[in-house]
Amino acid sequence: MSAKLSGGVAQLAKLRGVEVWSGRGYFEDSNTLRVETSEGQKFINYEQAIVAVGSKSALPKAFDLGNPRVMTSREALEVEEVPENLLVIGGGYIGMELGTVYASLGSKIVLVEALDGILMGADPDLARPVVAYAKKNFKEVRVKTKVGKMSTQGKQIKVEMEVEGQKKEELYDRVLVAVGRVPNCEDIGLENTKVTRDEKGFIKINDSNRPTIRRFMRLATLRAA
Ligand SMILES: Cc1cc2nc3c(=O)[nH]c(=O)nc-3n(C[C@H](O)[C@H](O)[C@H](O)COP(=O)(O)OP(=O)(O)OC[C@H]3O[C@@H](n4cnc5c(N)ncnc54)[C@H](O)[C@@H]3O)c2cc1C
Repeated sequence: MSAKLSGGVAQLAKLRGVEVWSGRGYFEDSNTLRVETSEGQKFINYEQAIVAVGSKSALPKAFDLGNPRVMTSREALEVEEVPENLLVIGGGYIGMELGTVYASLGSKIVLVEALDGILMGADPDLARPVVAYAKKNFKEVRVKTKVGKMSTQGKQIKVEMEVEGQKKEELYDRVLVAVGRVPNCEDIGLENTKVTRDEKGFIKINDSNRPTIRRFMRLATLRAA
């Protein structure tokens, strides 16, 4: 299905005269992008570029054991067996969505969140039914809880956490880390351009960028009309 959809988009792009190069892009400078393709290197000169490289799940070093039982959302969508006990770290929309999926499949879910509420970035009216569902269908929902360390113990993961100031150690079959996402802006050569990034790695949008984006949006709207 997704192959059909992306094939359709590629066809639309072709009809509109969009040139598509498949390969890894790297900014050589503020006007040149190098693309590593299967046919060799291609250099593209551009006036303006849209960086749309997406993001990946954040995996703090303390959680990165190299053990497949510690998963991010990417691996959680490819698991072959349903874990009996699953710890979900992070009460944002990804933690809640995947926690709900695994609860429906029969896992006992313990969800922990460092802040004092679930889905804190969402409209409270929208968050309320999700929280009510989790309270009914998850084994436990713990707020004000911080996971410190994890380690492999046999076929399980030992997790050390602080629940409202109290230290706890527990064993889980699998752990899903859903503590946010980081941009894929490393290793694309942005340091060779005038673009700067903030402390979390996101491209900084300054006053001179905003009108450029607005102008692009207006042109796109005019074309579509
Ligand atoms: C579990 C989960 C559930 C979600 N559910 C929803 C949902 O229900 N609804 C919704 O709207 N959103 C949802 N999202 C969010 C959604 O997936 C993202 O917002 C969306 O994919 C972002 O699109 P994008 O084009 O910015 O990035 P991406 O889809 O990540 O695309 C970026 C592309 O850039 C390519 N790329 C990266 N670096 C380079 C390079 N150097 N050179 C060339 N190409 C490169 C990558 O290969 C990739 O194909 C969900 C996300 C997750 C993780």
